[in-house]
Amino acid sequence: MIGAVDIGGTKIAVGAVDNQGRVLARAECLTFPERGYREAFERTEKLLREVAKSAGAELTGIGIGSTGPVDAFSGEFGNVTFFPAWQGENPVSDLARSFGVRVAIENDADSSALAEYAWGAGKNKERLIYVTVGTGIGAGIILDGRLYRGVKGAHPELGHHVIDATGPLCDCGFHGCWESLAAGPAMVSWLKGQVPVDYPYREGLTAKRICELAFSGEQWARRAADREAHYLGLGLANLVTTFAPDAIVLGGSVMKSAVLFLEEIRRVICRCCRLVPWSQAELTLASLGDDANLIGAARVWHHRFADARGNGV
Ligand SMILES: [Zn+2]
Repeated sequence: MIGAVDIGGTKIAVGAVDNQGRVLARAECLTFPERGYREAFERTEKLLREVAKSAGAELTGIGIGSTGPVDAFSGEFGNVTFFPAWQGENPVSDLARSFGVRVAIENDADSSALAEYAWGAGKNKERLIYVTVGTGIGAGIILDGRLYRGVKGAHPELGHHVIDATGPLCDCGFHGCWESLAAGPAMVSWLKGQVPVDYPYREGLTAKRICELAFSGEQWARRAADREAHYLGLGLANLVTTFAPDAIVLGGSVMKSAVLFLEEIRRVICRCCRLVPWSQAELTLASLGDDANLIGAARVWHHRFADARGNGV
């Protein structure tokens, strides 16, 4: 039984996950980054003990998926947007000391990629890219069952590959990154810049709301959805051309409305990817549902400490 910890900007979820990727118990709390790392750690520790108890098993290891950047090998938080004051804190060594088990951490896009490869829509796909589209765009790359890492363990930032250098300013400081054109907030800011001042849905507009309006046939929202599909398609086409993968698995909140986008995404890939076997790159939706982040966090442990395929534990 692996303890799973999913650390996000707004909440921390914990779970007890068995060796088939089933979540047997779960709990969560708000992150409250401003109260400091130590307080958040103590809350997490307490919740982990509670879920282990309700699952009726001892935790044999702990896996963490966290909003990044995190150092997968030292276990330390980098300069994370949501909790910059936690930089240099080390939940891996702290949890290992507290529970007496081995602990591993990965960026949450990487942890979700590992879970989809092991137990989800990307099962047995040897060249798999997982892409999550929500408030940003994150991705994890699996090659031959192992997580692809850059130099010194760096997590590649596919959400920041440039689609249009004359595009909007991105959070990273450059212009026209994929994320700045196709993440949820990009849909909102584009639509707000286009609609007339008396547009009735302007207040409290979110990507989710735009998708609902598009489903109902509202014309401005439909245009926003078409634009979203186009930019998602361009970024995904770049990944197909660059990696010629077996599969791309799509997750994240925006992808809950994937039916609005998939046809155009496939059309863009078909038009752009002329030199690689693009039709072999299966485009599928993430299949692990609302527990995906917890399952991913648990898989981080298997990937790090079990055999090369993550089996045999
Ligand atoms: Zn960027």
